[in-house]
Amino acid sequence: MKSIIDSHAHLAWDSYAEDQKDVIARAFQSGVVQIVHAGVDLVSIPEMIKLSDDYEQIYLGVGLHPHEAKLWDSQAEEALRQAAAHPKVVAIGECGLDFYYNHSDRESQINAFRAQIRLARQLAKPLIIHTRDAWPDTFAILEEEEAGKVGGVFHCFTGSPAQLPQIKKLDFYVSFSGIVTFNKAQDIQDAAKLVDENRMLVETDCPYLAPQPMRGKRNEPAYVWMVASKLAELRNVSQEQIADVTVKNTRRLFQLPEIKAPT
Ligand SMILES: [Zn+2]
Ligand SMILES: [Zn+2]
Repeated sequence: MKSIIDSHAHLAWDSYAEDQKDVIARAFQSGVVQIVHAGVDLVSIPEMIKLSDDYEQIYLGVGLHPHEAKLWDSQAEEALRQAAAHPKVVAIGECGLDFYYNHSDRESQINAFRAQIRLARQLAKPLIIHTRDAWPDTFAILEEEEAGKVGGVFHCFTGSPAQLPQIKKLDFYVSFSGIVTFNKAQDIQDAAKLVDENRMLVETDCPYLAPQPMRGKRNEPAYVWMVASKLAELRNVSQEQIADVTVKNTRRLFQLPEIKAPT
């Protein structure tokens, strides 16, 4: 059976309170062999850890989302450091800058972002970066904090080919979500055509951003196949080739073990 990895999902949330088990079962049935569950806050960490204990295939990132950055303090840092000691935690994040929503003020966002890059470097874990309308600051901070030493991924890529050279210079990965399937996402589609094959990941960012045929509905990891199909169409290769290469890339980035889909 063909295999794929959803490199960025949120399953420990109320959206799945009724049917979390079914959603996860559908993912595995479809050939999703591993899922990286990104963190956004501190309160959901116990539920995330429980999920990763219950399912061998689920790994975690722990971090404070830019929306929550005003909550950053030494206690938050200590909580993340402790959570990161769990063996299923493979990354720090998501963290970064969101100057589109500005749910936290910019200074708080920058402060929390820098601190989390330093934490990732201390713990030698890669970063899951959330950035929106903030490319220049994001790149400047990643360079100043020498984030290239641990590497990471720009999750839910919403840029254009213009960012690809700097991403390559940092030696980071680019993860495509359901947004790449949207009709008006020309810049993202152009980047998806051009990005190096060995830097490309796929994700759902569920429960958000369901791909085109499901747009507006609740998303789930099994739909990551639709993202792979769109990338295959854009790059003129098979869906299986996208699945294969993104599995390899995701495992390399997060140091995940090899798990095969049941036959
Ligand atoms: Zn995000
Ligand atoms: Zn996310």
